[in-house]
Amino acid sequence: MSPQPIQHYINGQRFAGESGQAQDVFNPATGRVTGRVALASHADVDSAVAAAKAAFPAWAEVPPIRRARVLFKFLELLNAHKDELAEAITREHGKVFTDAQGEVARGIDIVEFACGIPQLLKGDYTEQVSTGIDNWTTRQPLGVVAGITPFNFPAMVPMWMFPLAIAAGNTFILKPSPLDPSASLLMADLFQQAGLPAGVFNVVQGDKDSVEALLDHPDVRALSFVGSTPIANLIYERGARHGKRIQALGGAKNHMVVMPDANLDKAVDALIGAAYGSAGERCMAISVAVLVGDVADKLVPRLAEQAKALTIKNGLALDAEMGPIVTAHAHRRITGYIEKGVEEDAELVVDGRDFDAAVTGDGCAEGFWMGGTLFDHVTPEMTIYQEEIFGPVLVCVRVPDIATAIQLIDDHEFGNGASCFTESGSVAREFGRRIQVGMVGINVPIPVPMAWHGFGGWKRSMFGDTHAYGEEGVRFYTKQKSIMQRWSSSIEHGAEFAMPTAK
Ligand code: NAD
Repeated sequence: MSPQPIQHYINGQRFAGESGQAQDVFNPATGRVTGRVALASHADVDSAVAAAKAAFPAWAEVPPIRRARVLFKFLELLNAHKDELAEAITREHGKVFTDAQGEVARGIDIVEFACGIPQLLKGDYTEQVSTGIDNWTTRQPLGVVAGITPFNFPAMVPMWMFPLAIAAGNTFILKPSPLDPSASLLMADLFQQAGLPAGVFNVVQGDKDSVEALLDHPDVRALSFVGSTPIANLIYERGARHGKRIQALGGAKNHMVVMPDANLDKAVDALIGAAYGSAGERCMAISVAVLVGDVADKLVPRLAEQAKALTIKNGLALDAEMGPIVTAHAHRRITGYIEKGVEEDAELVVDGRDFDAAVTGDGCAEGFWMGGTLFDHVTPEMTIYQEEIFGPVLVCVRVPDIATAIQLIDDHEFGNGASCFTESGSVAREFGRRIQVGMVGINVPIPVPMAWHGFGGWKRSMFGDTHAYGEEGVRFYTKQKSIMQRWSSSIEHGAEFAMPTAK
């Protein structure tokens, strides 16, 4: 089958674009090219911004409850097509189908939250702030806003952004990852079928150039980014220089502390699922196990046994636990980190490079396969401890006590998530209060906050000050206006020269 063209979606229509440039999209399980995604030129980005700008005034005027009704319809369609969306994700990303279903479900949570936009936009009101004067605040949309998303959640992360932004009355341009761009078009089609006016939601396919065009475009008011830290940092600085509102979520190195009093069976299950699920290609994956006291001697052999026993297969196989790595390039990067770990004298307990691709399924021998890797006796100065590997590699660090564990996590440049497995209430409380990360799990390995709580890391895991989705998401996509009002019957005669105060 020849590769399918994957286009932009501008002003309610698929659009081939004018750049004439495209890039291959692979099925990572087979290593074969399945599509060619268009790469937008600056002119293509300009067309999307113009469409979004033209659609903004009318969409912003639609009463929030009627905007919510379009979202309710979108929600219905998403539920009807969720498996189709999950399958498209598995084919381009490689993650196993049940995991892709989970990603779609977490995205749907945000659409459900966005359906409550009339309540979320409700302002506040104070009667009689001075005699005869009332004061209230409203939140109004910004205009054209954009979202730049990573490959690892091609449906969920866009849904962290566009449902709320659009519900709040903005018009939106999504620039998805070129590695798995099809989910974005399926969502655009469904939103259109739900009755969204043309131009309110647009998709521009592309990479660095299209992101830069969006960042520099004077009509783009705000930009949300999710991806690696170096790019997040660049985007934050460049966008802020242009006076845009920026929310840039970056990379991670999430630690899970296991205390000697923890339920070790549960801790092993949690570490295996959180380290190797989605082949470790999650910003909330656990990539460091911090083993306190004598835990390591008990846990490492059990982790090794389970890492070797992972069912690694084409993600569409129903018993698959882990799929392939997203690209050959990412595979080489992860392999390079494993080599580095060995060079730096970490103990390689399970070597994912030994994995035999023949067991993954028919036609998969050329896919981007790798097994789970486990390192022990990793120390903080090692590269495999410091850098985000973003693959199925778990490193174990041994520490004597909880204070050292907390210090270790606090000293790391990233601060996305951290988890602590313990049966002690006081350890859990201290951990939750003291740890310098944005999202904490107590006996929860992947504490991705629910739709109404908002998502975001600290330190170099996030640039900007409002977290994604939840009420902070609503604030990010709206600006506050305060209105003070009085009528002539309460206005005294004569000019006032002193600073007005309550009378
Ligand atoms: P990436 O940074 O390579 O790409 C992210 C987006 O930026 C893509 O849309 C890409 O096309 C674009 N891009 C790439 N290079 C660019 C450049 N030079 N200038 C402007 N834009 C550019 O990230 P990825 O590999 O797609 O995703 C994995 C990364 O995302 C990991 O670091 C992971 O931790 C992070 N991530 C973070 C979160 C979070 O919530 N903090 C969530 C998911 C993923």
